[in-house]
Amino acid sequence: SIEMQGLHKRFGRDTVALAGVDLTIEAGEFFTLLGPSGCGKTTLLRILAGLEEADDGRLSIGGRDVTEVPPHKRSVNTVFQSYALFPHLSVRENLAFGLKMLGIAPREREARVARIAEFIQLGDLVDRRVDQLSGGQRQRIALARALVNEPDVLLLDEPLSALDAGLRSQLQVELLRVQKRLGMTFVFVTHDQDEAMVMSDRIAVLNGGVIQQVGPPREVYEHPANAFVARFMGHAN
Ligand code: ATP
Repeated sequence: SIEMQGLHKRFGRDTVALAGVDLTIEAGEFFTLLGPSGCGKTTLLRILAGLEEADDGRLSIGGRDVTEVPPHKRSVNTVFQSYALFPHLSVRENLAFGLKMLGIAPREREARVARIAEFIQLGDLVDRRVDQLSGGQRQRIALARALVNEPDVLLLDEPLSALDAGLRSQLQVELLRVQKRLGMTFVFVTHDQDEAMVMSDRIAVLNGGVIQQVGPPREVYEHPANAFVARFMGHAN
């Protein structure tokens, strides 16, 4: 599980991004951080990834305190909206790159790339250059790349928000399939309540750096804890 206690984060003097977040995400959950722009979702994700340091509070992943553990040693990977792929390299080279950095031998790298390419059904995309791919294809490559070193936890920061509606629902199905098959923990960030409703085992609704409510999407939708949650989940009043 991922355990957060009293996480605070401030930028400069006046911007409070997180104002004391207490949250436990269970292993194997599809968990969604949901809230309006600026509520602190990305900041929380970046703290989980180790890309940002909390000012105060504790964070443990899989029972290990990771407050001082650098990003690449957390068994956590991130899929960003911006893909963060190398455009001039082939898909295969992109997938192998991180494994090389981890010191994994060429033969094992090839085997893992082949395995993930099969699993995500990349077909002949593996030999194409990334700058020749569409947005949806790049997003699938970004997902494959994040999975290739078999992390325990995958963090996804609005990975589908740049895609058109049809592609988006296709990739929603694919993400769910991958998550359930691999039994991984997914922490998914979105500002889209409909997307959160269809994807998640549980959601946390954030506003102003504070968690407003945590629970299964249907429960949050049917029994909002306060007026903000009710409004945000699409109730008329
Ligand atoms: P969005 O959906 O728009 O991405 P978000 O919920 O992910 O929003 P965050 O990006 O976590 O929100 O930002 C939370 C608050 O912290 C905002 O007020 C934002 O302006 C501020 N903030 C985030 N990163 C920085 C930074 N590097 N420097 C200064 N302020 C920041």
